[in-house]
Amino acid sequence: MAEPFDVLVIGTGITGLSAARQALKSGLSTATLEGMFFGGLVTNINELDGEIAGSGSDVAAGLMMEATKLGAKNITGAASSIGREGDVLVVESDAGSHRARSVVIASGARLKRLGVPGEADLEEKGVSHCADCDGPFYQVKDVVVVGGGDSALQEAIVLAEFAKTVHLIHRGEKFRAQAHLVERLSAHPNIAVRMAAAVEAVLGTDEVTGVRLAGGEVIACSGFFAYVGLEPVTGFVSAQIARDAGGFLNTDKDFLTAMPGVFAAGAVRSGYGGLLVHAMAEGIGAADAARTYLR
Ligand SMILES: Cc1cc2nc3c(=O)[nH]c(=O)nc-3n(C[C@H](O)[C@H](O)[C@H](O)COP(=O)(O)OP(=O)(O)OC[C@H]3O[C@@H](n4cnc5c(N)ncnc54)[C@H](O)[C@@H]3O)c2cc1C
Repeated sequence: MAEPFDVLVIGTGITGLSAARQALKSGLSTATLEGMFFGGLVTNINELDGEIAGSGSDVAAGLMMEATKLGAKNITGAASSIGREGDVLVVESDAGSHRARSVVIASGARLKRLGVPGEADLEEKGVSHCADCDGPFYQVKDVVVVGGGDSALQEAIVLAEFAKTVHLIHRGEKFRAQAHLVERLSAHPNIAVRMAAAVEAVLGTDEVTGVRLAGGEVIACSGFFAYVGLEPVTGFVSAQIARDAGGFLNTDKDFLTAMPGVFAAGAVRSGYGGLLVHAMAEGIGAADAARTYLR
């Protein structure tokens, strides 16, 4: 039987890639396990906001290249469980069983759905989650964006380059987004902001034709984008590892979960800061903690 890896990183978003690169720099044999494509949530962000600039796919590709050059074994497969055989952790995936002395869970998060009637039925028929990918389809059309955080404002600004009008609907009285993003909205006269309003249904049969707000008002639109928070991807993680009220994994300050040798970092972790700088720092921190554990 092959020697177990020192570190197996589940997920190759920015957190997982940063963890893998750091573990390899420390001389640890390291594998990554990815269920889809490397890069995670930022893959389709053409223009990043914040301390890390450029396109999301370029940042991810740079990290992937570095980790691969340092000797990462990149496995394609979705993790389905984490167990233990003696001193060795065993991660099952649709690509087989993978043995490791330590595991970093970096499986991230996915965009929450708003959960209103019509949203699921009209998926890919006007209901979208990627402004950079689908924005060009809405040239001179109206779109609705729901949310009041960084992602909602960032994506509304991207869509304003294409759409005739972007209706930005937020149920609160104030945006939660960073001040510079709120300020940038005012440079786009085609973004119409509606505060203290809630979408009750997405309308249409074969394609999106509008949304209905609580109270009955209908806003006509061809595209619908909800950015109302993230939910962690933890279906493969046993109940032994505690979660917070939102389902995010609890760790101590060194990223250690309740399962010895299993660390969690990035968007899947309770207390994560939310930006790429945090993803990178947490990936590095978890790899360093795994190195200390292995000693
Ligand atoms: C719309 C949007 C725009 C954003 N824009 C910015 C920005 O401009 N600047 C900024 O700093 N931050 C931005 N962020 C935040 C940033 O994208 C995230 O904080 C960061 O990407 C989280 O990285 P992660 O690696 O922890 O998780 P993810 O990016 O979610 O990566 C997790 C990876 O794990 C994989 N995975 C999941 N389950 C499994 C499994 N069972 N087995 C194997 N692999 C699995 C996934 O396929 C994915 O590749 C944005 C977020 C969103 C939603």
